[in-house]
Amino acid sequence: MALTIEREQRTTLGHRQNFVGRSVSYGTVAWDYRGRTWVVERPEDGEPARRYSVKCLVCAKTLSYTVHSLAATRRRRARRWIAAFACLVAAFPLYGLIALDPGSVLVLSIGFGGGGLALATGGCLAFVAGGEAGLVGHGSAVPGYPKHKLFVSKAEGRR
Ligand SMILES: [Zn+2]
Repeated sequence: MALTIEREQRTTLGHRQNFVGRSVSYGTVAWDYRGRTWVVERPEDGEPARRYSVKCLVCAKTLSYTVHSLAATRRRRARRWIAAFACLVAAFPLYGLIALDPGSVLVLSIGFGGGGLALATGGCLAFVAGGEAGLVGHGSAVPGYPKHKLFVSKAEGRR
């Protein structure tokens, strides 16, 4: 499910607290983030993106983020979904090559390798598209658990 984006977006800049994942149950680890929350006001549609500087409360490092308007964020999302779909479509003919000559190592390599690469790339692009919030900067688009990460939620009030 796609992330909800609003003109005023409540955003938390989190600093990862643990270097190694904290075990919460068998085979599952958790990463703890602590930080500050602020309300980001996006630029009007058609206006250029704004730059924000936020100081991390944990390490006192100043981080810069670029905030896109709602329309620009939707376009960024759409471009990523289109690219993900294109990768998915590209995987079919690559796998289809295998039917032409299933005995050839070269054809099998191109078919499975290229098809798998196209599917993996499409999956990564779809994951990024689903999390696209129009906030670009340190760790905002990195899947996983970077040192600094942005958490976006609905704006309930200014802090
Ligand atoms: Zn920090």
